[in-house]
Amino acid sequence: MPKPIIAVDLDDVLTAHHEGLISWYNQTYGTELSLADVHSTNPEVWGTATDAEAIKRVHAYFESDSFKDEKPLPGAVKVLEYLNRNYHLIVITGRDYIIELVTREWLTEHYPSLFDDVHFTAQYSLTGRSRSKTDIVESEQVSYFIDDNLFAVVDVAKAGTPSILFGNYPWNLDEGLPTNVTRCNDWAEVQAYFDARS
Ligand SMILES: [Mg+2]
Repeated sequence: MPKPIIAVDLDDVLTAHHEGLISWYNQTYGTELSLADVHSTNPEVWGTATDAEAIKRVHAYFESDSFKDEKPLPGAVKVLEYLNRNYHLIVITGRDYIIELVTREWLTEHYPSLFDDVHFTAQYSLTGRSRSKTDIVESEQVSYFIDDNLFAVVDVAKAGTPSILFGNYPWNLDEGLPTNVTRCNDWAEVQAYFDARS
C-alpha cells in the first residue's frame, strides 16, 4: 500500500515567518506592530499612507537576509523526519511564485530531502494566479492537511480531509471546529496526533 500523504503549510508552521517579518519591519521602519496586526489591511497600522506603500515595504522583507535566515519552528524537523517513515510529505504554501526560488532553497537547507513536492498557491496574487489549497489537496490525494490558517483548514476539512489547525495564533482563534479538525499548538502535539492513529 502506498504511504498516505501529509500536506504541510510553510509560513508559521514550518517557519516562524510572521514573527520574523514583524521584528524586521519594526526595526526597519520604527513601527510597533505586533503579531495580532499582521493581517491588518489598514495602512496606518503599517505606518504608511497607502496600501501600495505597505505592500512595497513587506515585499522588501522578501529581499532581505532576515527572510532567508528565518529558522524552522521548534521540533518541526525532528517530528517530520519521524513522520516521513510512514507518510509522504508535501508542502502547500500560500506563497507566490515570485519567491519560489528562495523558498525552495530555504526548504532544501532546513528540511533536506523531506518533501516530495512543493505547491505554490499565490494566495495574495494580484494577477489572478491564485489556486485553492482544497483543490490541491484533492488533486494530490492528500490524507492529512496541516495549516495555521483557520479558513484554509475548515475548507479542506469540509471537503472531507482530516486536518490539523496548527499553532495558537491571534489570527486563528476559533469558536468550535468541524469534528475532523484538531488543533495542535506545537509539533509535539502533531506527533501525538499521528501516534494516536498508528
Ligand atoms: Mg501559514
